[in-house]
Amino acid sequence: MKEVKPGIFQTPDTEPTLRVGIVLEEDRKRSVKMRALSFPVTAHIDGNEYPIEQGSHFTTTLENNTLSLALDGETLCKTRSKITLSVNESRPLAPQAGTEIQGVVAGRSFHWKKEIDQICHGSFSVHPAEDGIIVVNHIPFEDYLSCVIASEMSAECPESFIQAQVTAARSWASVFLHNKHSETPYTICNDDDCQRYQGTTHLTQECIAAAKGCRGDFLVREDGSIVPTYYSKSCGGRTETAKACFDLDLPYLSSIFDGSSSSPLATYNLQDDDDFEEWLHSTPEKHDAPFCSPAYISEEELPQFLGAVDEPQKYYRWNSSISSEELRKSLQEKFHITASAILATTPGKRGASGRYLSYSITYRDTNGEEQVLKLENQYQIRQAFHDSFLFSSAFLAEEKRSGDEVSEIIFSGGGWGHGVGLCQIGALGMALDGKSYEEIVRHYFPKAQLKKGYA
Ligand SMILES: [Zn+2]
Ligand SMILES: [Zn+2]
Repeated sequence: MKEVKPGIFQTPDTEPTLRVGIVLEEDRKRSVKMRALSFPVTAHIDGNEYPIEQGSHFTTTLENNTLSLALDGETLCKTRSKITLSVNESRPLAPQAGTEIQGVVAGRSFHWKKEIDQICHGSFSVHPAEDGIIVVNHIPFEDYLSCVIASEMSAECPESFIQAQVTAARSWASVFLHNKHSETPYTICNDDDCQRYQGTTHLTQECIAAAKGCRGDFLVREDGSIVPTYYSKSCGGRTETAKACFDLDLPYLSSIFDGSSSSPLATYNLQDDDDFEEWLHSTPEKHDAPFCSPAYISEEELPQFLGAVDEPQKYYRWNSSISSEELRKSLQEKFHITASAILATTPGKRGASGRYLSYSITYRDTNGEEQVLKLENQYQIRQAFHDSFLFSSAFLAEEKRSGDEVSEIIFSGGGWGHGVGLCQIGALGMALDGKSYEEIVRHYFPKAQLKKGYA
């Protein structure tokens, strides 16, 4: 996956309003059901206004490039242009308050993909597009961020974690608002591709209050421009560089050991296979252990802090396997390659976090010819070696063979996600250990400074 290049932006001095894509064209929805859950909604269509009472269900349907709006089953009007749905903007953000949208897709193209009903604060616009309806939520930036935090992780997390995560999400979003979805009516989407946003569905008052406590805080470079503060679920013990993962020259996103710098684990060279193996199986005492390891948060405690759509998993160290048959199916589905046999798999180099950056698969094609598929980045590696997506590319692989063919590959690995920037489970471990918000962001972004944009 070629990562979209982050822009160079100074901190804004007024709070922006975001346009968040909730239902996207690629979801191919021909009809979207909504409900004026907490307050009345006014629909604006071609200069006319249609009041929708609180509690009413309404549906937008797309047919022959025409949108129609139906209230309680009765069609009110049709348009080839957009429908705007406004609410009284002075209502403050509140848990589970807003307009409900049914069947929203979460986890697009990932193994946890599902449809959920979600409640969103703010107003909306509904747009007709070739392949399906687009629903966009218009919401003040800070309200959006509170909702992102409650969607990415559970709102039960400690305050200093929430503030570190909000600040990373705020800085990250600010450098991508203008270039991530430029051909669409939205500036950012609601999924892991950008940041997971499920509106006020999982929001709590504690979460709103914690986010307010760091309102307008950005992580910036020496020249004041905003750092693209990537984050992922678990680094596995050491974070990855933006260069290795995304081929982006971002010295502010270097690799750090996710624990105390005095730990002997901090000195391991994870690009070296022997060091990596020893590191993967090490079980240090808490003072030497990474913040994302079970020494800080046990696997039993972890689920209560994760996002509602996250599945309980082993994030820090995990095992997985793929049979030859499953791998051939994966290559067919994701790379459009028909292999009659897998002959060998050959690893490339590892990045600083131990994540493989490339890999090749030698296979026999349907003509009996030997071919090689080169997996060029960790995204492709994770795609190939799992029926949906392997947790990370930081792994040891053991090939089982039968004759000259690979019959199965057994993986033991570490971490979950790309591993660049803030480690969410590590930041949580630091917060549970009593570290402040400032200490957490300084740990993951040691070269960046905290700066207040708008108040
Ligand atoms: Zn997106
Ligand atoms: Zn970590």
